[in-house]
Amino acid sequence: MNIKPEEITSIIKKEIEKYEKQIKTVDSGTIIQVGDGVSRIYGLDNCIAGELLEFPNDVYGMALNLEQDNVGCVLLGSEEGIKEGDIVKGTGKVVEVPVGDGMIGRVVNALGLPIDGKGPIHTTETRAVEIPAPSIIDRSSVNEPLQTGIKAIDSMIPIGKGQRELIIGDRQTGKTAIGIDTIINQKGKDVICIYVAIGQKQSTVAHIVNTFTEMGAMDYSIVVSATAADSAPLQYLAPYAGCTIGEHFMNQGKDVLIIYDDLSKHAVAYRAMSLLLKRPPGREAYPGDVFYIHSRLLERAAKLSKELGGGSLTALPIIETQAGDVTAYIPTNVISITDGQIFLESELFYAGQRPAVNAGISVSRVGGSAQIKAMKQVSGTLRLELAQYRELEAFTQFGSDLDSDSTRRLEKGKRLVEILKQDQYKPMEVGKQIAILYAAVNDFLSDIKVSDIKKFEKEFLEYMDTHYREVEKTIITGKTLTDEVKTMLEKAIVEFKKIFLQEA
Ligand code: ATP
Ligand code: MG
Repeated sequence: MNIKPEEITSIIKKEIEKYEKQIKTVDSGTIIQVGDGVSRIYGLDNCIAGELLEFPNDVYGMALNLEQDNVGCVLLGSEEGIKEGDIVKGTGKVVEVPVGDGMIGRVVNALGLPIDGKGPIHTTETRAVEIPAPSIIDRSSVNEPLQTGIKAIDSMIPIGKGQRELIIGDRQTGKTAIGIDTIINQKGKDVICIYVAIGQKQSTVAHIVNTFTEMGAMDYSIVVSATAADSAPLQYLAPYAGCTIGEHFMNQGKDVLIIYDDLSKHAVAYRAMSLLLKRPPGREAYPGDVFYIHSRLLERAAKLSKELGGGSLTALPIIETQAGDVTAYIPTNVISITDGQIFLESELFYAGQRPAVNAGISVSRVGGSAQIKAMKQVSGTLRLELAQYRELEAFTQFGSDLDSDSTRRLEKGKRLVEILKQDQYKPMEVGKQIAILYAAVNDFLSDIKVSDIKKFEKEFLEYMDTHYREVEKTIITGKTLTDEVKTMLEKAIVEFKKIFLQEA
């Protein structure tokens, strides 16, 4: 073998040229205090706000207070085995969650890790949990309806894709039920749903997951859960994590619905965290930036412009009030950030009007432009007639005699209220909603007994399904009630009423 020294030296030279000194510096610090889920660390000179910090025992933390000589951070795992003097390493990254199609159908914690016992989630991408909201030029106006399947909402408080609509009410008034029914109603509608449970009982969350599975809603849903047993930082992170998971789909041009259940508990978790970090308390002991934590979350709901794919993220935050007090700190904050609110009242709930929506004070500030025209045609006077009915109802409690016009209004109102009642887990297609509301609003039900209204509704819709299938279809495809459709609808109503009254 012939050795060529020049060749060898040239190779060695090349290798030396390519060699770079790679010294990786890791920002590190030592723990000076740890307890109650928070820790103070000395060092970490290059720490960034919200940075993920690595503690011993594979526990992570999130840097929140960057002070002159130390960093205050919350632990995202158990503090067991972590002690003063331990070394903490910076990761240079902010907190991230995995995103992608693999998440669909799964139950995850606030860090996006599976907790449903179905094995690891296969995703290739991660995304920061805190991302600035889409800017003004990135957005287009809300122009497509998001059907909740609940008559009282779709008719009077319509929600559009990309809107933020608050669901607010006392405890046990059916707030969660509205969110769940809305998710169930998205079946086959190409909307990805995310349910974020914050500070709830594990049994409640398990029950909801079961319901989704039974109803086939898990096929297009993701549940992000930080229960009451999880630490305050995890409860705090959960909605941002859910939002990030949803945004990934929105950026692909898809429609996403996200429910935050509920932001009152989210604020409480943030308060606990802030107090432990010794941030100064303000009104109701909440820290000064409690408004901002909700505004930056809800601002991320958007309808993107065509150039960006036209995807949307619709947010339905839930707030629990105490004794109907909407003027408390957190409720007023969230009311001011959202595009409208659905008020639920215990009084109505116990009187049997479920969903217990108070249509008089509920509003949807942008959804009206997204409502299909046919629904507008039937719901136009609905709100007014209901308001008049409520007034008259209060008046008749004095036992005074009523003129015939008032009696007529009162009777009609009773029937409208009856029609707006709807059982849980029974969302209704918009075509059916329009058909039955049309009958009620146009006085076709005046000769049906109030106690028979529910039965009438059910049987009428079945009758429509078997004999007038095309009417519902034309309403949905045509999106407006032409004279032709109206004639057909009226024919069906009159026909069925004859049968119904004969039976009775
Ligand atoms: P919490 O304050 O505990 O979170 P909530 O306001 O979320 O309560 P839900 O849990 O949704 O209320 O509902 C309370 C109860 O009312 C449940 O038992 C539920 O099944 C029932 N309920 C809700 N909506 C309806 C409805 N439309 N028809 C009949 N029952 C309903
Ligand atoms: Mg609830």
